[in-house]
Amino acid sequence: MLPDIILPAEYCPPNGTPRLRSGNGRILKDAATEHLTSPRRVPIFDGHNDVLLRLYRRGGTDAPRAFLEGEGKGQLDLPMARQGGFAGGLFAIFVPSTNGATDPNGEAPSQNVSSGAPLPPAVELMPQRAVFAMVSLLLRIERESQGRVRVCRNVDDIQQGIEDGVLAPVLHIEGAEAIDPNFELLDVLYAAGLRSLGPVWSRSNAFGHGVPFLCPSSPDTGPGLTDLGKELIGACNRLRILIDLSHLNERGFWDVAAISKAPLVATHSNAHALSPHSRNLTDKQLTAIGETGGMVGVNFATCYLRPDGRQDADTPVDLVIEHLEHILKRVGEDGVGFGSDFDGAKVPAEIGNAAGLQNLVQVMRARGYGEPLIEKLCYRNWLRVLGQIWGRVHTP
Ligand SMILES: [Zn+2]
Repeated sequence: MLPDIILPAEYCPPNGTPRLRSGNGRILKDAATEHLTSPRRVPIFDGHNDVLLRLYRRGGTDAPRAFLEGEGKGQLDLPMARQGGFAGGLFAIFVPSTNGATDPNGEAPSQNVSSGAPLPPAVELMPQRAVFAMVSLLLRIERESQGRVRVCRNVDDIQQGIEDGVLAPVLHIEGAEAIDPNFELLDVLYAAGLRSLGPVWSRSNAFGHGVPFLCPSSPDTGPGLTDLGKELIGACNRLRILIDLSHLNERGFWDVAAISKAPLVATHSNAHALSPHSRNLTDKQLTAIGETGGMVGVNFATCYLRPDGRQDADTPVDLVIEHLEHILKRVGEDGVGFGSDFDGAKVPAEIGNAAGLQNLVQVMRARGYGEPLIEKLCYRNWLRVLGQIWGRVHTP
């Protein structure tokens, strides 16, 4: 059993704020008062969540307020984020499959595990509509937040958000069904704040093929990127949009590795050696990510943590750390962080939701991790790789 830690009521600076350097190397905060807060909360920048999908499905003009004030639902809202030190992350736009076959939470339907399940069907109608709705949701959250949420478009924005105690979301799209062959919408979404894109979710589209939700299964489940998919990688490189490898099958992964000029990143995937799920990364893939100075966000979804691939909240949080350490050995300590999958997956009960994130920090401390390593894993690695991909202050 983990020791409980006493959390301050809110994640608010200055005491809980780490020292951060601005782009010019200036130290923004003095560490002198840090010892007064014990244990110190570490801000966490997170590689993946599906809260926009949850709010889209919830509906209602008050959905932004539901996020900002919280209504006791889901795994991520502003009060939970503040309690757990969730400082920001990649917020996914996800277009649901049209026949309702997709799990409502956007991740592995449990009944599909080990059953030879086919890929969910392709999106047929108007994926743009869902995309616009979810972009709008995030923009409305920012507008109604009275300064508590600021959508980030570069790394300095994120650093400033962490320093100010302002939630720092970045727009990500999970599955590029809405993107047209001329990449016109990509330009529009970029202008709206899109900085990260997964060419596929776990289904096929014009760009490539995702992995089905299978365990045990190799991620080598089908053909690689289409010609248009390879063009999309070039377009993302030109705009300096992060290309997310999570959900892509193995041949697609190697196609991106061969084409992309950017560090390889899987925002929410785990180690296949520990959980032989098709969604997880083989050691060879992990090594390739490390060789590019890339990044893996460790996923809290129990089906990608457990050796048996089951979704079960009664899964020890230590499994998160075991995946983290396995990936750390192959990618390096600068290339691992977290990709929670909040609001998209069943996570270990000891974390529960964003409010429980510091329990994970406590486990790392109990295992003897030093504070500099903990800071890297919690947010500095994400800021490093995003800075490399986007440029420190990006002008397109
Ligand atoms: Zn996902």
